[in-house]
Amino acid sequence: MRCTACGKELTVWDEGFFRKLVNRGAEECCCIPCTAAHFGLTEEKAREMIRRFQKTGCTLFPSPPADPENGSERL
Ligand SMILES: [Zn+2]
Repeated sequence: MRCTACGKELTVWDEGFFRKLVNRGAEECCCIPCTAAHFGLTEEKAREMIRRFQKTGCTLFPSPPADPENGSERL
């Protein structure tokens, strides 16, 4: 899947963040920078939020130790 705004190839983090903020069942998603910009957030703040969602066990994101900072996407 690609970002509908900029065309970047999406990771589970991009998709998870978009679904969490916009629509859990979204078929089309945007990348983290585009989604963050849409909500007036910095990318840093977005990753902070993702860490928090991940910590609370949100199923939209991979379980720790996968890390949104280093791009690891696999469990
Ligand atoms: Zn994008």
